Amino acid sequence: MAMGAKAKELKAAGKKVYDFALGEPDFDTPDHIREAGIAAIKAGHTHYTAAPGIPELKKAVVDQCRERHGLEYDPTQVIISNGAKHALHNIFTATLNPGDEVIIPAPYWVSYAELVRIAGGVPVIVQTEQETDFKLLPAQLKGAITPKTKILLICSPSNPTGSMYSGDELGALADIVIENDLLAIADEIYEQLVYGDHKFTCFATVRPGLQERTVIVNGVSKTYAMTGWRIGWTISSPELAKAMSKLQSQETSNASSISQYAAVAALTGSQDCVAHMREQFAKRREFVQKRIAEIPGLSCPEMAGAFYAFINIKEHLGRSYNGKQVDDDSTWCLELLEQQNVATVMGSAFGAPGYARLSFAAAMDDIKAGFERIEAFVKSGA
Ligand code: PMP
Repeated sequence: MAMGAKAKELKAAGKKVYDFALGEPDFDTPDHIREAGIAAIKAGHTHYTAAPGIPELKKAVVDQCRERHGLEYDPTQVIISNGAKHALHNIFTATLNPGDEVIIPAPYWVSYAELVRIAGGVPVIVQTEQETDFKLLPAQLKGAITPKTKILLICSPSNPTGSMYSGDELGALADIVIENDLLAIADEIYEQLVYGDHKFTCFATVRPGLQERTVIVNGVSKTYAMTGWRIGWTISSPELAKAMSKLQSQETSNASSISQYAAVAALTGSQDCVAHMREQFAKRREFVQKRIAEIPGLSCPEMAGAFYAFINIKEHLGRSYNGKQVDDDSTWCLELLEQQNVATVMGSAFGAPGYARLSFAAAMDDIKAGFERIEAFVKSGA
């Protein structure tokens, strides 16, 4: 919030801000998807739909999941919501009793913990380390389980770290999930934004019987640059889908009818737009990775997916920057913004002090200029 307010203030003062704080693609929604939205309005698809979504979109979700991961679902197992964030709210509200615990590996997307609390649950944050690419280790998961544990939440590829679990790593966690009769939430919203030789594995596929105890969370926001359309979904067991459908029918009814039709076009139309955006992200990722390695004292794990670099800035804390003493990541990020007009998000916002998250969902020229400024800032520390 402080970063956002400061960035706005600078922009209002006519300053160019190099904004790497955003959690959304910088691309516009592809044309054919926008046209589908317009066509939906013109065709009169402007009424209530069934609360859990239109059959065409639920079928498109099931088809895409089968094609990409070989998983079979009935369309009734899909609930279309107002974005993946709403989908997560549905899961927590439908499953958690007061005091139930949800294991969330840190660094984590900040909404997870808040959504668990809103539903009366208790987020159990487990710290992961840069040395293990910020991945939860089986021993850490075992150590965090109590009689109150109900859910393990895995986000892969990860916001904010860009790291992604291999099939084997997911398998080891899945064994513990099964042994302890837990539910797993697999937030796979960045599954199509994966780079280099990295291969995405869908959590529900790694062990027999896991599909029934996994809720897949996904949506069109990131893959198709559709953040403002607000379409996300869950794919779950029939029982949970039924509960979430009832809940959603009382809380919000259907997600926007127009957006649902646009999402059908996204899922069933040409996927060239996804390949194009992925290529652009891949180029930026490579540049960002190289620049971080070049700047003394900065480091970050290799980004397998998503569009974030989670930069270790610990060596640069406890220094003075043009007369300003900087002892923590929040102050470091605020001073970087104040002194160099570069906006990032402090790692402590994601439960990992000593880091800064930089989103490379920004134009390449801005990223290049932004890194010049980051380097100048780092070098000014004494
Ligand atoms: N999950 C993760 C990991 C995210 O980064 C985001 C967006 N920041 C969401 C879910 C929510 O996406 P939306 O509500 O736009 O579908």
